[in-house]
Amino acid sequence: MDKIASPKKTREIIEQYQFKFSKSLGQNFLIDKNILEKIVEGAGVTKEDNVIEVGPGIGSLTQHIAEKGKSVVAIEIDKSLLPILKDTLQSYDNVEVIHEDVLKLDIHSLIHQKFHGKKVKVIANLPYYVTTPIVMKFLEEKVPLTSMTIMIQQEVAKRMEAQPSTKDYGALSIAVQYYCQPKILLKVPPSVFIPQPKVDSTVIRLDVLEKPKVYVEDEMFFFSLVKDAFGKRRKTLLNALSTGILAINKELVKEVLQEVGIEEKRRGETLTIEEFAALSNSFSARG
Ligand code: SAM
Repeated sequence: MDKIASPKKTREIIEQYQFKFSKSLGQNFLIDKNILEKIVEGAGVTKEDNVIEVGPGIGSLTQHIAEKGKSVVAIEIDKSLLPILKDTLQSYDNVEVIHEDVLKLDIHSLIHQKFHGKKVKVIANLPYYVTTPIVMKFLEEKVPLTSMTIMIQQEVAKRMEAQPSTKDYGALSIAVQYYCQPKILLKVPPSVFIPQPKVDSTVIRLDVLEKPKVYVEDEMFFFSLVKDAFGKRRKTLLNALSTGILAINKELVKEVLQEVGIEEKRRGETLTIEEFAALSNSFSARG
């Protein structure tokens, strides 16, 4: 089978199988070979690498990964794509397609079964309606990964790599940067997809850190604190933390802020991840 990624070939396949795009599954297929090559190159895939692809669609990215990598497990939710993938990927003996919702899949046991627990690379042109839940599932479940190279909505990519005191900095920046070093690789216009999405896209690589970027005594409390600090962006840290979901006693917030040397008038959006960790650990130490 020839390479799929051209507008002509993609249309032929869609026509041949009478495939109906599902908007609710975020189906926008890539039709540009150069972009596909850049994604796989950006991921640094070698013959040593086992790759998990989320949402292979009709298999255009899968073909490119299979050529560079050792093996690919592609997880696709849409049953109507299975006969197409069987056809488009038939000449690759290092690809396995699994019909599953990635959000419901036990990824640890998948990696254990298919790759004997060895670290994998994730590569995907993600469905934009569930980008954050998918990324956070891989990170929070501490799946053995070296990196995730993903095509996502540009706005979300900017939030993932944002630094303090910028408009894109928020709870997602902290959540991603706690586990990974993000790097934006390339920006992609809507014209390289069928059908075209309404937003610009970005390929970002998240290099998963050996251990989280900061030491945190109680992760659940840390992330709740971050959520509260950004929940009321315009409020001072003192007000945001004492009136947020955690509703911490105002006097206690004052004491802890003083202890870690953070001015109570500062806003959450100015805090570095290290400062959030110091704050969280200081609350934890008080029980
Ligand atoms: N990889 C293909 C490409 O680049 O042309 C298709 C990418 S398309 C943006 C997203 C794909 O993810 C679709 O094939 C869609 O059916 C699939 N998908 C959506 N939600 C999913 C889920 N929860 N689990 C697995 N696959 C999903």
